[in-house]
Amino acid sequence: MRFCAFFLILIAVHVNSQQFVPCLYDIVVQQREESNPGYKQALYRAIEDAAKESHLRNDEIYTIKVVFHVVYKTEEENIHDSLLVRQIERLNRDYRRQNADTINLRDVFHPVAADARIEFELNEIRRVQTTKTFRPSFTGLPDQVKQTANGGSDAKDPDHYLNIWVCKIEPLTFLGLESPVLGYAYPPDALSHWPAGSAAPAKELEGVVIDYRTVRDDSYYIKQLNNNIPMLGRTTVHEVGHFLGLRHISGDAGILGVNCEGNDGVDDTPTQGMQSQFDCNKEQNTCGAGEPGDLPDMVENYMDYSSEDCQNTFTKGQVAIMRSVLTTLRKGLIEDVSGTDDVKISGITLVPNPTSGYFSIKNTSDVIIHSLEIMDIRGRIIQQFNSGFDGYFTLDNLEAGLYFVRINHQITKKLVIANP
Ligand SMILES: [Zn+2]
Repeated sequence: MRFCAFFLILIAVHVNSQQFVPCLYDIVVQQREESNPGYKQALYRAIEDAAKESHLRNDEIYTIKVVFHVVYKTEEENIHDSLLVRQIERLNRDYRRQNADTINLRDVFHPVAADARIEFELNEIRRVQTTKTFRPSFTGLPDQVKQTANGGSDAKDPDHYLNIWVCKIEPLTFLGLESPVLGYAYPPDALSHWPAGSAAPAKELEGVVIDYRTVRDDSYYIKQLNNNIPMLGRTTVHEVGHFLGLRHISGDAGILGVNCEGNDGVDDTPTQGMQSQFDCNKEQNTCGAGEPGDLPDMVENYMDYSSEDCQNTFTKGQVAIMRSVLTTLRKGLIEDVSGTDDVKISGITLVPNPTSGYFSIKNTSDVIIHSLEIMDIRGRIIQQFNSGFDGYFTLDNLEAGLYFVRINHQITKKLVIANP
């Protein structure tokens, strides 16, 4: 791959000036621009054009099915199911604007704040133990984590599932400087008219990669800041924003210091001349201070690099982009998936659900039930029933959590077991 020396120098300065590169999105886009000049402009234009389409102005709630791949070397990296369930809950609260900290949003931004009406459903957790190390560089990203043959875990049907890989991401190093990396994501591929494989990585590489510590821990020590920064699961909220077409709110500006020429393609985010550096400075106003109608920097936005405990909002313009991407460039994500593990059928309901230890099946469909299996979140069968389908099913002593009930080896229903 040809490499842009200028970009490399910019990033070196960036790191050297006590800033760092926690999210590799800009590098992702720049690398694809390097291999295909014009990529960046075409990508942004396609996304912004899609967002203008009027059919997006509806209230439908879109649900994205999520597959986690935990690719670990040590047991510490092999994080518990409950943390992944908590991550899904975080995504749901933030993308539905049901997070308690929306009350911290300053009044000036209330008119633009929006519920994205996007929800996330945990579909599967896959675990792979590896001997490989995943280290990004300015010329390459550690996409081996997405490939079984290279010590990672192959994506599940990337047209229909959001694949999220959780692993240890080694720091980015350059000229002896180190920058921790929290995650990265590829933008939607808007370049279908280009020759196959010319710009986009393989379809199987779509998705989000996050460092396990952003999910597991309450804080992350950043050497450059000499500080622990809070971790609330919002690295994933941010990276999924990129995956759905969003850019950092400062656009591509501010690498060498404050630059107000950047543009994130969203009208209702204020012009911001640089990334916040994991602070929560509500006095910060990098561009247009004193001009009529000027707004301060929006440190509450998930697409800034502000501290996760001051982020609480997407804007209407950002929501329009994400929803347009879900009805165009990534429309498979909200389609019904038919196949062996996700047959959609109405008329079969598990009651009560959540349950504390038993349930029955309410069946008004034409399906005759002849087998029923309880599966855990990793897809392992933990209990089976071969008769008694019109009575109560008593569950073995199972821990609270999310389970799947598979009927006739084909139809899958979710069952939540709550604490008795
Ligand atoms: Zn980012």
